[in-house]
Amino acid sequence: MEKIKPVFFVDFDGTITKQDVCETIVKKFAGEGWEDINKKWESKELSTIECARETFKLFTRTDEEAFKEVADTIQIDESFQTFVSFCRENDYNIYILSDGYDYYIQYILDRKGISLPFYANRLIFSSEIEVEAPYQAEDCQLCGVCKTALMRKLKKNYETAVYIGDGYSDFCPTKTADYVFAKNKLYDYCLSIERKVYLYESFQDILDQIHLIEKEVKA
Ligand SMILES: [Mg+2]
Ligand SMILES: [Zn+2]
Repeated sequence: MEKIKPVFFVDFDGTITKQDVCETIVKKFAGEGWEDINKKWESKELSTIECARETFKLFTRTDEEAFKEVADTIQIDESFQTFVSFCRENDYNIYILSDGYDYYIQYILDRKGISLPFYANRLIFSSEIEVEAPYQAEDCQLCGVCKTALMRKLKKNYETAVYIGDGYSDFCPTKTADYVFAKNKLYDYCLSIERKVYLYESFQDILDQIHLIEKEVKA
């Protein structure tokens, strides 16, 4: 019998990386006022893209080097590569879904020699920083990358969708996932909506618990 395989959807900032790359970049290069803009995003008054455009206007540097300098200081979860190897061995697919930016995701993955498909917003460096959102969903005005819409589309080929995340942009897609691994804000959110959730701090915790899901999936 064909083995029923889970597929993993993984957030990038604060999930694969230990620090939120976007937040680190903004804190370093945005002048005064970014916190108010960010609050408006958290309360959904501003969409991701509106928030980004407003925030980038406050930037004191708009060159690619600035982003690289910050990306060089970012660490990834030590056990993420083990998790990727585990998925390769078992023929489980991983998709990175990020409402962050392609530029630093590619840069950080390359640095670590990790090759995975990812969906993210696009950064264009010209006289100022421009943002494009190729994965925006028509019926969703909030996300730059609508993780829910992407997951609905991508999970069609699999039986079981597992979502792994940590923050605000992960709230919505957890509703579409079959299983959720969460930490920080996302974990609290899952508890608040009484959604079954597995707690993790690092990808090692996910590796330690994955057999629970494998067992259920195959049952
Ligand atoms: Mg995150
Ligand atoms: Zn959305």
